[in-house]
Amino acid sequence: KLITLEGPDGAGKSTQVSLLASALKARGYPVLVTREPGGTRLGEEIRGLLLNPLYGEMNHVTEAMLYAGARAQLVGEVILPALAAGVTVLCDRFVDSSLAYQGYGRGLDLGMLRAINGFALKQLGSFLTILLDLPPEEGLRRAAAGRRGDRLEQEDLDFHKRVRDGYLALAASNPERIVVVAAAAPVSAVQQSVLKHALAYLEGKRKG
Ligand code: C5P
Repeated sequence: KLITLEGPDGAGKSTQVSLLASALKARGYPVLVTREPGGTRLGEEIRGLLLNPLYGEMNHVTEAMLYAGARAQLVGEVILPALAAGVTVLCDRFVDSSLAYQGYGRGLDLGMLRAINGFALKQLGSFLTILLDLPPEEGLRRAAAGRRGDRLEQEDLDFHKRVRDGYLALAASNPERIVVVAAAAPVSAVQQSVLKHALAYLEGKRKG
């Protein structure tokens, strides 16, 4: 089964993905961890293009298509084969990032984004999404502490507010797939809650 972790910058997704991977492995689940954009050789190249500050003025549709392109590669090359082999796949960001950032953040049409991502996700079945929710002020504060100079770090607070509200709107309209975890809590509390949702899904107590 596939579980994706989503949330704004600074929400602690990569930390939680690796903690969840260890906890699931300790319970005997074969686990594969991957991330977006990236996760494949080609996808990591696309990630380099997307995050390079030199491309600050990238056309928003180009950006959305590059994300979807990296996603199609990841689904075909990594996710589908792993799922077919019975592996539990954990993905740090997935399609909801495109809807939140390029849709709610940049203002691109959600229908268009769903259409281009439909190509990338065509053969994928249902999955669980854990949204690590964090107020944008806190996310920016945390991200500033680990500053990397990405293109996206040039965005203002309003952009990050739209992204957060977008994520919450997606969660509200997909309650069967997306669970929300408050990420301002201590790492261990977030970890427990993430694990509880993941296990409920993997054990079939919750549909994705
Ligand atoms: O979380 P991660 O470090 O992988 O994200 C890389 C950057 O790409 C972040 O700044 C994130 O805000 C941005 N991003 C985006 N649109 C997406 C996915 C990520 O703007 N669809």
